[in-house]
Amino acid sequence: MKTHVRVLVIGGGVVGVSTLYHLTKKGWTDVALIERTELTAGSTWHAAGLLPLFNMSYTVGQLHKYSVDLYKRLPAETGQDVSFHVTGNLRLATCRERMDEYQKYCGTANTIGVPFEVISPARVKELWPLIELGGSADTPAIIGALYHPHDGHIAPADLTMALRKGARNAGAEIYEHTEALAFERIASGEWRVRTSKGDIRAEHLVLATGNYARQTGRLLGLNVPAIPVEHQYIVYDESPELKAYRQGGGRELAVLREPDKSYYLREERMGWILGPYERGAPARFADGVPDWFGRSLFPGDLDRLVPYVEAATRRVPPLEHCGIKDIVNGPISYTPDGSPLIGPAWGVRNVWINEAHSFGITAAGGAGWQLAEWIVEGEPGIDMLAVDPRRFGAYTSKRYVVQKNEETYRNVFTIHFPDEERPDARPAKTSAVYDRLDAKGAVWGQRYGWERANWFAPPGVERKDRWSFRRSNYFEHVGNEARLMRERVGVIDLTPFTKHEVTGPGAEAWLDGLVANKVPAKIGRMALCHALTRRGGIRSEFTITKIAEQHYYVVSAGAAERYDSDYLVKSLPADGSIALRNITNTRGCFVLAGPKSREVLAQLTDTPLDNASFPWLTAQVIEAGLAVDVYALRVNFVGALGWELHFPIEYAHHLFDALFAAGSAQGIGMVGMRAMESLRLEKSYRMWGSDMTPDYTPFEASLDRFVRMNKGPFIGREALEKQLAGAVPNRFVTLEVHGVTDADPLGNEPLFEPGGRMIGRATSGYYGHCLRKSLAIGYARAEYAQPGTQLVIEILGERKQATVLRESPYDPDNLDLRA
Ligand SMILES: Cc1cc2nc3c(=O)[nH]c(=O)nc-3n(C[C@H](O)[C@H](O)[C@H](O)COP(=O)(O)OP(=O)(O)OC[C@H]3O[C@@H](n4cnc5c(N)ncnc54)[C@H](O)[C@@H]3O)c2cc1C
Repeated sequence: MKTHVRVLVIGGGVVGVSTLYHLTKKGWTDVALIERTELTAGSTWHAAGLLPLFNMSYTVGQLHKYSVDLYKRLPAETGQDVSFHVTGNLRLATCRERMDEYQKYCGTANTIGVPFEVISPARVKELWPLIELGGSADTPAIIGALYHPHDGHIAPADLTMALRKGARNAGAEIYEHTEALAFERIASGEWRVRTSKGDIRAEHLVLATGNYARQTGRLLGLNVPAIPVEHQYIVYDESPELKAYRQGGGRELAVLREPDKSYYLREERMGWILGPYERGAPARFADGVPDWFGRSLFPGDLDRLVPYVEAATRRVPPLEHCGIKDIVNGPISYTPDGSPLIGPAWGVRNVWINEAHSFGITAAGGAGWQLAEWIVEGEPGIDMLAVDPRRFGAYTSKRYVVQKNEETYRNVFTIHFPDEERPDARPAKTSAVYDRLDAKGAVWGQRYGWERANWFAPPGVERKDRWSFRRSNYFEHVGNEARLMRERVGVIDLTPFTKHEVTGPGAEAWLDGLVANKVPAKIGRMALCHALTRRGGIRSEFTITKIAEQHYYVVSAGAAERYDSDYLVKSLPADGSIALRNITNTRGCFVLAGPKSREVLAQLTDTPLDNASFPWLTAQVIEAGLAVDVYALRVNFVGALGWELHFPIEYAHHLFDALFAAGSAQGIGMVGMRAMESLRLEKSYRMWGSDMTPDYTPFEASLDRFVRMNKGPFIGREALEKQLAGAVPNRFVTLEVHGVTDADPLGNEPLFEPGGRMIGRATSGYYGHCLRKSLAIGYARAEYAQPGTQLVIEILGERKQATVLRESPYDPDNLDLRA
């Protein structure tokens, strides 16, 4: 066994082996993998081998697409067959909302180039002759289906062996029966891994330990939010009807999914495999995998399966004539949002996570591809925020993860509405004024563990969302909140903002080297600053305010807390010239905005608020009511006169009550997240994570005014120089969509030129309640980004005319902000 390698992969399931394979593809061949027992001994050996291309996530969709393409090439490359049955995949719909979900997905699929067809019930019957089209209460009529002709199923162990062969051929080593027992960072900066067969030193570690993710993480001080859930499938004996159909020349049937009944069905040796995502499946191994588990399975739980067996049998009557051969019940790893963890670990250097895969056979190719890219190049090649392990934070307690993972599992097949807010493990993190907002009718949502008011139900209106892909019950109330903000004065509780304090003699120069804009040099000035990737993409957005000499206040997206914090901590110089503190939980934030906001705030403070004394884009430390040390920032995300008040958290109740008492004559009211979405789109304000991602540079995002190419070096500068020397391929666009009556764009819709060629994608969209226009923002090829250009956008399968507007269609000259 080698005692030193560049990368050591821990875990020999399909994901670990794929990572090893892809490292060798990137030219890193001094790499090894250790496996505590035998390759595939974890969840990989008993997986059903389905490879669904369907995924609502733009990122995960790209990973799955890469996998399916790779798996088709692997046998020729390695000489190892992988039993890839390209049967296609059929997802049935029995209600309009399900068809809406498919149409929403089709937009994403179009933007990433996944081929699909939306088909009629007659075509379903043609493709799947053994099906009942239905039409009764317990077997509803199929109204259509989504068909992927190019995926199917594979043999997971064969796939792993092909990847092993590819990796080994390139020089990688694999050591079975070798368990990682402890990790230690040594003076050289490398990791010393104590294994059951001796020590190995490695520059980088990759954790790919499947069901063991939590205990592996614990060895490194990481609380990895991955806990498996029981997952079962039934293997049936031969089906006489299926046999007759196949012997009569019928081709292998597509993998069938009936999401409205929560099961899948595929052929297996002239019989079937039926796999449900059941209610009541328990999380397992929250405290680690016990020694006795090894390669074993759980006993099958037929009672839990019965409703799904009955539903499938009604849809596919030949199931009735098949005996049950086996029930496979194994642990399947989950996270609270159902997506895997792929990327750097937080708080430790050169530790990489490739864990928590619930569709690990499907994802392994893509996950290995991008993680290898990240390790070798320092960053991934595509936007990986949706799977970055740092999208979760310290709030993922054991009980939280157990509850959320069980909830995620039983919702795998439910309709993924864009405005869906799942109820389990809530409320967990609340702002100090939660009860006050609740008393004002808040209809709650959750992000990064925080409860956030999506909208406020007026008295007499039910406090409930009717989730939809279209305008829904809250539309009118969200509109009223938006108009309140534009016409009078509103408050938004943005306490979840990520907040850092940077102090010390080196603070300014250090921050300046991290971002593309110039960090403010004068006390009381602020700047919107973007940290870029080395490829020039946007990794983070910070509002940086100079509070005092050598003292900066750095605010970023609430959901980016761990992501940004980890980046800042890892970028700190070792000389101690800078102190960095994450003060997210010690300051709250209320946005007070609207034309009357000055009148309201003036009642609470002696600080002059007129334009000359307190201009737009400046900040002051003020007293507000009885509260001291309030950072008042004259900016906001809604494009109105107003202040963000960042206050010591102990003043939350007082300041909230004081604002409402002072504002009663002006008609002050609460404004929720959905109205904020409408308001920010009217101003073309880009949102981190959807409109600003590593996929686009600030020039593509038309944020040129926040890039100072004439200042000193900063990360990403060379890439921007290169882009400027050539041509900027895409440009940010704001679109008015015409002819929308009930389904506004929401992001991930493809954009076409009038001739029908795809030339971009929307990244966000909503109804602009004050402009009374359906709006989208996104990226188009530069030649289509001029105001006035006519484009076409596809929303839920319908093509709509759209006009490129001048940026910031509401108040383009920012007169409200400067009022
Ligand atoms: C019943 C069932 C059906 C499924 N069907 C599908 C499907 O159809 N399609 C699909 O895409 N996915 C499916 N899955 C999910 C799929 O099985 C997993 O996502 C996938 O196998 C995960 O692979 P992995 O490499 O991450 O983990 P694993 O296969 O569990 O591998 C992890 C490995 O790490 C090793 N290890 C752990 N700790 C250490 C240590 N300290 N030192 C050394 N080695 C260590 C373990 O022994 C193990 O071999 C199914 C899962 C179940 C349970």
